[in-house]
Amino acid sequence: MPGIELTFPDASKHKFKPGTTGFEVAKSIGEGLAKAAVGVKLDQELLDLHRPLSVSGAFEVITPKSKDYKEFLWHSTAHVMAEAVKTLFPEVKITIGPTIEEGFYYDFDMPRPFTPEDFQKIEAKMAEIVKADQPFKRVEVSKAEALKREKGNKYKTELINELPTGEKISFYSQGEHFVDLCRGPHLPSTGRIGAFKVLKASSSYWRADQKNASLQRIYGISFFEKKELEQWLHVRVEAEKRNHMKLGKELDLWSMHAESPGSVFMHGKGMAMYNELIKFMSEQLFQLNYDFVNTPIVLRNTLWKTSGHWEHYKQNMYCLEIDEEDFALKPMNCPPSTIIYRTKRRSYRDLPLKLAEFGLVHRHELSGVLNGLFRVRKFVQDDAHIYHTEDQMEDIIQELLQLCDRVYKTFGFSYHVELSTRPEKSMGDPKLWEKAEATLKKALEDNKVSYKINPGDGAFYGPKIDLHLKDAIGRTWQCGTIQLDFQMPERFDLSYIGSDDKEHRPVINHRTILGSVERFLGVLTEHFAGAFPVWLSPIQVRIVPVGQDYFKDADKLMKLFRQNMVRCDVDRKHETVPYKVRAAQLEKIPYILVVGEKEAKEGTVTVRDRAGKLETLKVQHFLDRLLAEIRERKLS
Ligand SMILES: [Zn+2]
Ligand SMILES: [Zn+2]
Repeated sequence: MPGIELTFPDASKHKFKPGTTGFEVAKSIGEGLAKAAVGVKLDQELLDLHRPLSVSGAFEVITPKSKDYKEFLWHSTAHVMAEAVKTLFPEVKITIGPTIEEGFYYDFDMPRPFTPEDFQKIEAKMAEIVKADQPFKRVEVSKAEALKREKGNKYKTELINELPTGEKISFYSQGEHFVDLCRGPHLPSTGRIGAFKVLKASSSYWRADQKNASLQRIYGISFFEKKELEQWLHVRVEAEKRNHMKLGKELDLWSMHAESPGSVFMHGKGMAMYNELIKFMSEQLFQLNYDFVNTPIVLRNTLWKTSGHWEHYKQNMYCLEIDEEDFALKPMNCPPSTIIYRTKRRSYRDLPLKLAEFGLVHRHELSGVLNGLFRVRKFVQDDAHIYHTEDQMEDIIQELLQLCDRVYKTFGFSYHVELSTRPEKSMGDPKLWEKAEATLKKALEDNKVSYKINPGDGAFYGPKIDLHLKDAIGRTWQCGTIQLDFQMPERFDLSYIGSDDKEHRPVINHRTILGSVERFLGVLTEHFAGAFPVWLSPIQVRIVPVGQDYFKDADKLMKLFRQNMVRCDVDRKHETVPYKVRAAQLEKIPYILVVGEKEAKEGTVTVRDRAGKLETLKVQHFLDRLLAEIRERKLS
């Protein structure tokens, strides 16, 4: 009897009768697994749990813990929402409802926009459908039959007409009253949706084309557990409060403008923070014997041809013609760094050579993906290229991990690491790969860093580790990366003279710790909700004189603080002291100093910190304490 052979994730192979469902296979593995299952994956295709299987291949049961659960959960919830809308507004025509990065939407042909009152009704109706626990049933029909079913819905008719004749067309029903043209897959039944929320509505166009009919879109999200939804909503509200573009405007840090899409205009206060970050990183690197270099932005295309960027990355590069020759703005700092390496004959005694560059790069990102400071077209990387011998690899990785740890802890970030290993297609000696991966693992273990392995996810030219920071509201951000490169030294024919007097290839280690400095500023702003530690605060001290008579005393104080490199200003507005204090608090300034008669006479200041604590101190005493706090880069 012909059977199908399924390869399970543990690589074991099992034979089944054709027509066996995913559920039955899951059951053969374990009752618990079958109960948790929401669907299956067969050779990369996601299928309904109860769909009969007809071909052999790699098989995986999808549970709420799998990466692919969202496709099942979110898209099924979109169907439930469509049924609710259709029940409440029978004149509506349904169109499509895909899963998106976070949640799903459904587009309706509806004569008016949806209102918040509609949302409540829709959610109530959805709750009924979920409670009824209706199974999602799949039926397959011919194209002619499909067209007959969707007569009167021009959107679905258009979709069906585009499908090849002769192919079976599938519909899914839940309950008795709702059927939707759909390829699937779905959850086994509506009852599996644990919690959901209708989020917002907007108008859209059929197939995103302004020439087409205008539609009403509703966004939603769902989870298997109610507490997951609560957590998600909490993070969303917090993230909105902390939004770095909103705070950037309120705190006068930066702005973005149509005159240069995707590039940040840094205001004085944002620049103060930017400079602090660069200073902090420079101090760290200086102590580890880095050399600071700077390479040009405009570089001839011959360089990009040698590096491979011209062939593989050109669509993201800003290319220009100068004196009838091709140039490009650099999207990465590595190729020009190799030019500095090659200016001298290098000996093993010169290595490791650590070339750090706060390098300005331009990448032409699509306008649709631009996102505040998080995704920009022009940014500075805290980049470095470390040229070293194979024997030095371990020391360098150890040093880098310790450096990352110091840097991230300064901001109060916890982090985890992902190690990406050799892909199927790779270059470089397999022994070197093995050694590099073993070195990375050992260094992570020695430093007690929690890490997970992404097998086969490394670049073809070397293994890498990515460092993911966890912010104050639990979101993670990939910032640092440490990438070994066995290819670029070949492409640029780099060498050093070893102790054996022979020529050898160095290894390049590309690494950034902050990543893009602009993006890191955005992450910091959301992490601290704009209330930065003193050393990073754009204004560290605000002096509030009690009326005009004390302007002179205030100015004298400001001069003293500025001579000590403290960022300080004086509020000279004609307002009351409480008003000015309130304004400084809204600006999240760490220290507010009130100066009046008593303070002027006694050489003291009345200090209010961000927690609202008040104390009167001798000026020098306060200054010494402040300078120590800044020097030690204390977290408030
Ligand atoms: Zn569907
Ligand atoms: Zn690089």
